[in-house]
Amino acid sequence: MSLTDMLRAEARLAPVSGIEAVANYGRDRKGLIPLWAGEGDLPTPDFINAAAMRGLADGETFYTWQAGIPELRAALARYHKRHFGLAFSPDEFIVTIGGMQAIVLALQATVGAGDEAIYLDPAWPNFAGAAGVAGAVPVPVPLIEGANGWYCDVARVEAAVTPRTKVIFVNTPANPTGWTADIETLKALLDLARKHGLWIIADEIYALFHYGGRRAPSFMDIMEPEDKILFVNTFSKNWAMTGWRVGWLRAHPSLGRTFENLIQYSSSGVAQFLQRGAIAALDEGDAFLASQVERAQRARDLVCRKLAETGKVRFSVPPGAFYLFFSVEGMKDSTRAAFDIVDKASVGLAPGVAFGKAGEGHLRLCFHRRLDQVEEAADRLAEWIRKT
Ligand code: PMP
Repeated sequence: MSLTDMLRAEARLAPVSGIEAVANYGRDRKGLIPLWAGEGDLPTPDFINAAAMRGLADGETFYTWQAGIPELRAALARYHKRHFGLAFSPDEFIVTIGGMQAIVLALQATVGAGDEAIYLDPAWPNFAGAAGVAGAVPVPVPLIEGANGWYCDVARVEAAVTPRTKVIFVNTPANPTGWTADIETLKALLDLARKHGLWIIADEIYALFHYGGRRAPSFMDIMEPEDKILFVNTFSKNWAMTGWRVGWLRAHPSLGRTFENLIQYSSSGVAQFLQRGAIAALDEGDAFLASQVERAQRARDLVCRKLAETGKVRFSVPPGAFYLFFSVEGMKDSTRAAFDIVDKASVGLAPGVAFGKAGEGHLRLCFHRRLDQVEEAADRLAEWIRKT
């Protein structure tokens, strides 16, 4: 018996990321344009860095509030009032280590061994991975790729509910498809959750990364205060802060104590000086965010045009997030294709199968990058597509 065999099965069996496999293969290639990761190419803006550095200079290097410093929780309440029109109180927000820890805490609070957690497939793989580590069974329900883009058939979600189901995870706008739920779909999902007594974990981290001129529809538009919804969110994408690992969870105020305890027994909180940067992002970062969305929209339109011109690609233009999820005529094995694109086109893409069974036959391209590089990548890719 190896040491690995002696580990807890849920840990031992946690899946390897299918994105990493391709990225590790191509990471050091000279001249490769990496569009596989879920992040932009801009560093964090100076006004955010400066606020964190002031915190550090002021000696903010001690243990701090488990749930986040009061000033940041107040800034989160202001941000939600401004963008979602809701008057949350600061104690409804729990500061976490990125969106990922918010997801882990939401799972710790709602599922245990043998419970089922429904999610929509294709999906960013970390929810299913974390549910499995928690001992729960992740249950994929496929999104459908129709003539007018991806959509969610709520009847299929309902058909997947069993007596063991505890949670529905809804990521909209979605990584990797860009699927963005309309308000009717959100209402139907909320009705379903209410009817069966399920929790919704709402991952709306791309809500403001929306190309419709305004933010995407949100559960916040339709929920009642007592609804069983946990919102997970992050500073990573809106303000180019992926490496900071700061995010938040929004929950009913009566749940604050529990989440504070879960923080205590996992990370024990987020560095205080980082939280100073986060406050600057929320209070002063709207213009930066708007400029990022505008830049990404130009890149999205360009890459869509160039790939469509090949006549061999199928996709729907994503209304939100910053990924193009496309299929190529005749391409069946997305992992093989992603490796081949590294070798022949020197472009890094994520294989669709890394996002679940329903993702096979697709590739994910992150277009949140300098326009000249996106253009160069799209040209190389179009050539690869024409030749295959
Ligand atoms: N949810 C979705 C849908 C994501 O795409 C990501 C990041 N790729 C996260 C959550 C997690 O964000 P963070 O990097 O802050 O952990």
